[in-house]
Amino acid sequence: MTRAISLHDVSKTYSSKTPRVVDRLSLDVAPGEFLVLLGPSGCGKSTVLRMIAGLEEITEGMLLLDGEYANELPPAARDMAMVFQNFALYPNMTGRGNIGFPLRIESPGADHGPRIDATARMLGIEDLLDRLPGQLSGGERQRVAMGRAIARHPSVFLMDEPLSNLDAKLRSHLRAEIARLTRELGVTTLYVTHDQSEAMSLGDRVAVLRGGVLQQVGTPRAVYALPRNVFVAAFIGTPRINLLRGLVRAPLDGAMTIRLGKQFLRLPEPLSLDHQLLRVQQGREVIVGLRSEAVRIAKPAAARPGEVPLTGLVEHLEFQGHEVLVHFDTGSSPAVVPELEAPRPHTRPDRRRRRDATVLERLRERAGALRGGPVALLDRPRRAGAGETGAAPEGAPAAEPRLPGDLVVRTTPDIRLRHGMQVPLLVDLAHLFVFDQHGERVCPAPDRLPDLRE
Ligand code: ADP
Repeated sequence: MTRAISLHDVSKTYSSKTPRVVDRLSLDVAPGEFLVLLGPSGCGKSTVLRMIAGLEEITEGMLLLDGEYANELPPAARDMAMVFQNFALYPNMTGRGNIGFPLRIESPGADHGPRIDATARMLGIEDLLDRLPGQLSGGERQRVAMGRAIARHPSVFLMDEPLSNLDAKLRSHLRAEIARLTRELGVTTLYVTHDQSEAMSLGDRVAVLRGGVLQQVGTPRAVYALPRNVFVAAFIGTPRINLLRGLVRAPLDGAMTIRLGKQFLRLPEPLSLDHQLLRVQQGREVIVGLRSEAVRIAKPAAARPGEVPLTGLVEHLEFQGHEVLVHFDTGSSPAVVPELEAPRPHTRPDRRRRRDATVLERLRERAGALRGGPVALLDRPRRAGAGETGAAPEGAPAAEPRLPGDLVVRTTPDIRLRHGMQVPLLVDLAHLFVFDQHGERVCPAPDRLPDLRE
């Protein structure tokens, strides 16, 4: 058995004096689906999971399980199993004792041996059954914890950063195991992580949260290809998307350009529909988003249709074995996406003001609140410097101190480049993202649906 989970405008406040940690979250999880809740630390992911498990009260809104109102259903009646980051095994029970524990609670006196053995076989941990947790490695302990969750045959798995305490190699191994197991069992799974690569590799769909507010939900491919705003764009993808401050110039009688420092991206005529829609940004500062696959090192003469030239000064080379990440200085300014993980100001107006507000004002306020307030501000230009960490969310690839240069391009290791070289680049405008001053995507057009053939 597996079940559908629906959240309708669900909010959580821990005290009347503090803002909502989950803010009007609506989400539908289909039976058997693997949905990942992704976001920086403190954005409310665990709280959502705990509300679904019944371990935390829902302040406002509705939880439906298979279409039935379930806000007040006791945790034991929800038929869900949780797996936590810290394994949470009983130290004085063997693997067998730990796996069998929930079964003994459910039906004391019954013979649970066959079920425990079958679960252990599924996880390949038969030889761990007689050991105590203290005699197991981290990975083994997490397998036993998984066994305990699986043995009950629950209708939902809730996993809260289950791999965070493990080393990188084991993490990727267990990640594959979790994917296989949940597919085999076909059980609805909600998986919390701040690690975007984990989310992308595991989820049927990924729900990105920021400050308790859902930013976007979609397949890994869709959120990567069409991020709704600059936060999602910056959070998802390795290396992190290049975000540059640009200025749109759309004269009535000339070519449309986006200025990047002293250089221009000239949008080819006839303008594509997406580029035509950029006209409304005329004279405005925007954020240009270029993933590393949008830029290649090549001379202007080699340009394919849709590619436009740019030049960059090599500032740093990052050797990765199979490829090199080249950090270029193009003379433009990196866009600052400030404090992505900082607490969001509490913007909800008081009731009286709400009544007096016009419908339009209320709609505007709701639209802003839905995304958790503006995600991008184009204030002071700021050059990336050593130790700057404010521009990237935790878990995003660029959370490390930024290296010099404003544009990172992937290339093969055979290309001979040296620090200080001026290099011709081609930008593929088919991969151009433009975000407005509030960080919302304006190119490709916001209503574009992901085309999986692309
Ligand atoms: P995440 O799982 O994304 O790291 P959490 O859901 O654990 O985030 O926490 C969301 C926010 O709620 C954080 O600001 C956290 O400090 C706060 N919070 C979590 N649990 C409690 C609690 N029991 N009392 C008060 N605040 C809490």
